[in-house]
Amino acid sequence: MDIQKVFIVGSGLMGSGIAQVCAQRGLEVVLYDIDGEALKRALKSIEWSVGKFIEKGELKEEKGIIMGRIKTASDFSEAGTCGLLIEAVFENQDLKKEIFEKMDSLSRPEALIASNTSSIPITELAVATKRRERVLGLHFFSPVPMMQAVEVIRGQSTSEKTMVQGKQFVIRIGKEPIMVNRDVAGFVINRINFPSTMEAMRLVEEGVTTVEDIDKGLKLASGRKMGIFETGDMVGLDVTYGALMSMYRETGDPRWFPPMILRRKVKSGELGRKTGKGWYEYDTEGRKKTK
Ligand code: NAD
Repeated sequence: MDIQKVFIVGSGLMGSGIAQVCAQRGLEVVLYDIDGEALKRALKSIEWSVGKFIEKGELKEEKGIIMGRIKTASDFSEAGTCGLLIEAVFENQDLKKEIFEKMDSLSRPEALIASNTSSIPITELAVATKRRERVLGLHFFSPVPMMQAVEVIRGQSTSEKTMVQGKQFVIRIGKEPIMVNRDVAGFVINRINFPSTMEAMRLVEEGVTTVEDIDKGLKLASGRKMGIFETGDMVGLDVTYGALMSMYRETGDPRWFPPMILRRKVKSGELGRKTGKGWYEYDTEGRKKTK
């Protein structure tokens, strides 16, 4: 089916970014969140970000036209009018399964249902629905408006047609599909990135070097735009922790068990930009404080 309208569940960092890129490419979006304040914050941040793209000349349409394609919702009543539903709530399997059941019962049977999960098996979520063949992973990267890659993930029962439709959707919104043909823990990009992220944390934990020097070194030696810890603060330390724990539980492989420094920081609420402190400290505008 042709996807003209997308229902997004969860309007945090990822859900709002996904809503923005869909609207920028002419799709109608319904953005739903359980928290009305989160919806207000999402609209504000999308408007700011769209404005920046327009300023840079990267978007030709007027801000009002793009924003006019995004409707917020406090219930699922419009789910039945959408060709694709994307879940982007907290990384919690029980919560996601509950959302999947709802999306399944309240949408058209032919609609695709996707999750933006970083680590929960797509197959676990698909079994909460009666349309396993039309469930897939669409894993965006943060910040969504800037990052071009989107993993298109096949669950155990995802049909070939769904994979093709997922790929076409990613291209339609101006992103590059990375096809993931088996539902493995961490999919592809995180499976490669997490080991170096954890190694960087252990080097800091062991006092070998500092957060600042690792980030500087990686930018200067590997051509990265952002350091590993700067990225970690943007993503949220709780998000990385949740993804690692879910991979650890899924595989039983100790290499995914989060380093102590990460466990302690999450426990004490140092979650990154969103709490003003993570690997770095931030002012109230979210700007990194310099030492
Ligand atoms: P976030 O904390 O910024 O946003 C989550 C949103 O979900 C919140 O606005 C919350 O109010 C909403 N929510 C919670 N329960 C809900 C419910 N029952 N119904 C509707 N909305 C509900 O989280 P995020 O960083 O946007 O992450 C969302 C998902 O994307 C997670 O699965 C995460 O693993 C994945 N992900 C995150 C990143 C990242 O860089 N942060 C990258 C890729 C994937």
